[in-house]
Amino acid sequence: MGDDGHLIEDCIFCKILRGEIPSFKVFEDDKTFAFMDINPVNEGHALVIPKFHAENLYATPDEWFGPTLSTVRRVATAVNAVVQPEGINLLQANGPGAKQSVFHLHMHIIPRSATDGATMNWDLVPGDMDAIGELAKKITAAIE
Ligand code: AMP
Ligand code: ZN
Repeated sequence: MGDDGHLIEDCIFCKILRGEIPSFKVFEDDKTFAFMDINPVNEGHALVIPKFHAENLYATPDEWFGPTLSTVRRVATAVNAVVQPEGINLLQANGPGAKQSVFHLHMHIIPRSATDGATMNWDLVPGDMDAIGELAKKITAAIE
């Protein structure tokens, strides 16, 4: 990954970026990293983060948004091809009142169906790690 000077010690997503804890990576480039959410709202729920530690939208310098959204587009396109959901929502939380639980900017890619009952404030329910891992491989293969 090269320079990790933009990361901090005590952040779970910085630890993922440094390879200190495992993740189901689906894509990585020099500025961004994409991986599966392990408490998926629906099958195929993925996250995209910049390789820069900033806790939220307000603290992230402009230059990271272009690369991050570009990766969101690529990964969402692959999720859409593999999972074929009825739709996909992008979501990004700022602050505890918005149910932000990890304080390193991230974009959620959430496959949806009109009847899935998903609400903005979902509970974290661990997924089936074998199924998430299999889906991660398929999505990685579908990245263009
Ligand atoms: P937010 O509530 O917007 O801060 O979302 C944080 C997301 O990170 C949640 O959906 C968690 O399920 C997810 N998450 C937390 N730890 C991990 C991890 N180690 N690997 C993958 N996803 C994680
Ligand atoms: Zn971080």
